[in-house]
Amino acid sequence: MTVDSDAETPAIKLLCDLIRCPSVTPVEAGVLDRVEAFLTQCGFTCTRVVFDGDGSYAVDNLFATVGTRGRHILFGGHTDVVPEGNREHWTHGPFSAEILDGTIWGRGAVDMKSGVAAFCAAAAHHIQSNPEQDGIISLAITNDEEADSINGTKKLMEWAKEQGHRFDFAIVGEPSSAHILGDNIKIGRRGTISGIVHVKGKQGHSAYPYRAKNPVPVLARLATILSETKLDDGSKHFEASNLEVTSIDVENKATNVIPAEGRLNFNIRFNDHWDGDKIRNWIEQRLVEVTTEGVEVSWRQIAAVAQCFISPVSKDINIVRNAVEKISGQNPELATFGGTSDARFIANYCPVVECGLVGKTMHEVDERVEIEQVNKLTRIYFETLKNFF
Ligand SMILES: [Zn+2]
Repeated sequence: MTVDSDAETPAIKLLCDLIRCPSVTPVEAGVLDRVEAFLTQCGFTCTRVVFDGDGSYAVDNLFATVGTRGRHILFGGHTDVVPEGNREHWTHGPFSAEILDGTIWGRGAVDMKSGVAAFCAAAAHHIQSNPEQDGIISLAITNDEEADSINGTKKLMEWAKEQGHRFDFAIVGEPSSAHILGDNIKIGRRGTISGIVHVKGKQGHSAYPYRAKNPVPVLARLATILSETKLDDGSKHFEASNLEVTSIDVENKATNVIPAEGRLNFNIRFNDHWDGDKIRNWIEQRLVEVTTEGVEVSWRQIAAVAQCFISPVSKDINIVRNAVEKISGQNPELATFGGTSDARFIANYCPVVECGLVGKTMHEVDERVEIEQVNKLTRIYFETLKNFF
C-alpha cells in the first residue's frame, strides 16, 4: 500500500470529493451520489432508501453490500455535517477541501467524512485483494446523524433486517480517539434523557405571601435534590451516572410579585444500571420529594431516550484492537466516555465498536485533518477486514 502522507490514495481523493458537497443536515448535496458511484465501481450493490415522517424531515440513506456468504461485517457512518457557521472565520473555504502541508481543510474533515472515505477505500481494497474470499461487507450510511437522527440509521437498520441482513459485527467510523490516533476505541456509550419540570403555584403580592403559592423555593429545592441524589457508583465499564440541571426559568421581572410558575431543565447521562423506564421512575420519585400543598409539579421528557449500550470484549473486538496497535502503535483503551452516536441503533442488531480519528477540530471553524491520519485509519480498517474473514 501507499505511504501515509500520499494525497493520491483512493481514500483521500474520495474524502476531498465528499467535503466539496455542502451536505449540512439533511441536505444531500450529491454526497451520497459520490459514495454510491465509488462503491458501485468496486462491485458493491447499492440501495438508496429515503425515510420520512415521525415528526422529522425526509432523509436520504445508502445501504451497500458485497458478498453472499460467510461472516458479515457492517461499517456505519454519516455523510451529513453540522453548519459551517460564519464563512469569514474560516482560513480556507469550509467546502473547499483545500490541501496545504499535508492537511485537508473543510467541514466534515473529521466528523466524519474521513471515516466514511476510509472504510469505503479499505473495503474496496480488500475486495480487490481477495476476490475469491467468502464473507460479506455491508455499509450503512445516513445523511442525518448530526440533527434529529429520526429517519437515519435507526430506520436503515430496521430496513436492512427486513431485507434479511444479519450482521456478526459492526464498526462505526466516528472519531473515537482522544489525543493520538488509536488511543481509544469505544465499546459502549452512556444513555441520555432530557426533561423539563414545570412547577405551578399561585401569583401574588410579595407583601401578602399567604395569599400566594411561591414556586421558586420548590424549584430551588428540586434543583438541589436532583443534583445531589446519587444515581449510582458507576459500573464495570462506565463512570457513575450524572444529572445536570441546565436551566431554571421564572421570567419574573418584578421584585414585589410572587411568580405563578417556573420551570427547570435537566439532562441525565446514565450507565448500564439503567434503562428508560427505570430512569423515568427515579425522576418521578424526586418530584414527589418536593411536592408541596397548592403547588403542582409535573415533568415531560424532551426527545427520545438514548439507551446505554455495551459490546462485550470478544474475538472481533480484539481483531480491531490488534489492527489499531499494528498500524498506529497505540494499545487502545476500550472506552465508553463521550456523548451518544448512531452506534446505539446498531447495538440492537450486533456487537458494535467505534473506531476512528482524533475528534480535535470537529464542529469547529477550521475543521481539518492530516492526510497521514486518514491513510492510517484506512489501513486500520483494511487490516481489520483481513483478519475478520
Ligand atoms: Zn459524527
